[in-house]
Amino acid sequence: MDTILVLTHPADAGSPLSKASLEAITAGVKLAASLKASLVIGVIAADANVAASTPVPSGARLLSVTGDAFAQPRYASDAAAAEALCRTSAATIVLAPSGSRFSRVLAGVAYRLGGYIDTHITSVSSKDGVKIEAGRWFYRQRIESIISRSSRPWFLLLEAGTCAPFASASGATPAEEIKVELPAQRTTVTGVRAPAQDAETIRPDARLLFVAGAGWTKKQADGQTHTPEAAELILGFLRATKASLGSSKSLVDQHSEGESVLPFLTHLNQIGQTGATPRHPKGLSSCCHGEEPHVVGWRFISERRAISLDPNCGWSRGKADVVYVADAFQVMPKLNALLKSK
Ligand SMILES: Cc1cc2nc3c(=O)[nH]c(=O)nc-3n(C[C@H](O)[C@H](O)[C@H](O)COP(=O)(O)OP(=O)(O)OC[C@H]3O[C@@H](n4cnc5c(N)ncnc54)[C@H](O)[C@@H]3O)c2cc1C
Repeated sequence: MDTILVLTHPADAGSPLSKASLEAITAGVKLAASLKASLVIGVIAADANVAASTPVPSGARLLSVTGDAFAQPRYASDAAAAEALCRTSAATIVLAPSGSRFSRVLAGVAYRLGGYIDTHITSVSSKDGVKIEAGRWFYRQRIESIISRSSRPWFLLLEAGTCAPFASASGATPAEEIKVELPAQRTTVTGVRAPAQDAETIRPDARLLFVAGAGWTKKQADGQTHTPEAAELILGFLRATKASLGSSKSLVDQHSEGESVLPFLTHLNQIGQTGATPRHPKGLSSCCHGEEPHVVGWRFISERRAISLDPNCGWSRGKADVVYVADAFQVMPKLNALLKSK
């Protein structure tokens, strides 16, 4: 019989488990139920209180590795902690959220344990209660594959946003603390340098994706470009809604073509065939044509709306739920004012 271990960690040092960790617990609960397998939750954190307040599914075991060495992500300490949790639980299936922390270490941990790892997993299930089927997408989300392996332990890194976060009364199950002998540490984490929150425009957990297209920097009815005004409107909207910012390829490419550009956009914002395929409940596209390679990136956006001057734009041809045929330079100031008044 399989034993499923779900590896988890806090969002930041001192905070509770990350949302992606709670989503991985939900995946573990569902898989354990369909396989009638035992379930173990493993917590890696600096603070033992994180383990104590972890919501534990009924019947599951809770293991923790805690201490100051685990406050910050670092290969040597995280790999040692994950390895200890895998060995103690004798897990045959290991589920973990695919954030930077576990993506960095779990291939190495799988190797130490003689196991296999698959990444970017978007579903895990078992139809017959024996064979496990893990789903993932290839070729920019155009081909979906189902993977099954008989080798164990099998590590699966789960994409964020594919399960609801697990929620239940926490604290009823006491954590079993696992002691880990750390190798000599050559890496010291001295701090984190991150852009100011407003400067960070890619927010995977946001409820809304706002996409800016090349129209924002094109000549408008008065024959002039209005790029600084466009930048202010877009940033004002992001500040008010905490939306994530996406962009069309045409807009981010303009930088290398020497045209008028929005300074806060990089290729990391690009959505589409050659860009990202983010997952958000809602999306609003602005000044963007809705071309097919770009729309490919909207596959996992549940409700799509667009603002474009062009009534024949690609979005209107069944690719968006609602298209506002309107001037974004008029719509967005009104929208921002409404948001401000709230
Ligand atoms: C192989 C391949 C891969 C590609 N991969 C990607 C990809 O990953 N991502 C991607 O985005 N693209 C990709 N593209 C390019 C894609 O097909 C489109 O050409 C591109 O996304 C179009 O960008 P755009 O809509 O911003 O600009 P445009 O096509 O220039 O459209 C601008 C739009 O803004 C509107 N507009 C202008 N002013 C206003 C205003 N004031 N108010 C409202 N609307 C206004 C215009 O009516 C127009 O519809 C790829 C293309 C190929 C061939």
